Amino acid sequence: MESFAFLKLTPPTMAEQPPPYGQENCLEPGLKFNAKAWRDHFQKRDRAFARAIVKFIAEYTDREEVFEGCRGYAYWSNEDGKTLSWDKAIGYPATLAFKTKRVRFIVEEAKIDLVKRGFVVEKLELVMDNALAKDENEKRDCKKTALNCKCGYHGIFVNWKLGIGNQ
Ligand SMILES: [Zn+2]
Repeated sequence: MESFAFLKLTPPTMAEQPPPYGQENCLEPGLKFNAKAWRDHFQKRDRAFARAIVKFIAEYTDREEVFEGCRGYAYWSNEDGKTLSWDKAIGYPATLAFKTKRVRFIVEEAKIDLVKRGFVVEKLELVMDNALAKDENEKRDCKKTALNCKCGYHGIFVNWKLGIGNQ
């Protein structure tokens, strides 16, 4: 397998700027690689996760009549113990959002939605954390996260606080 070496890059000086070649076409026109396709791909996934977050908050609020909480799903809360309940709701492994660094985009989409619904978003975070154990005596000395370990208590949680807006 090829391994990558990481170089510390120093910014080029003015003398090293490339001349204006005026490139008309892509260097490799047959290569299907462009930013728009990736933006569309991520936006679709971000919105699916954001939608699941808003539904999650709505269900909790309806049940408890409380507008703040820190709740989510751990591996133990799913029957198979290997996936998170988010996965089914959003259509891809929720840990991918962390791996691909999409969390802030997801949170932003959810915030926009909640504001449209008239709420003031005082706090909204999506975090990898550990759930309270079902059994308090359960040993939990694992320092990993849901991203790279499937201990039952690792999971993904929403931490939120909403206010009721004036409009
Ligand atoms: Zn673990």
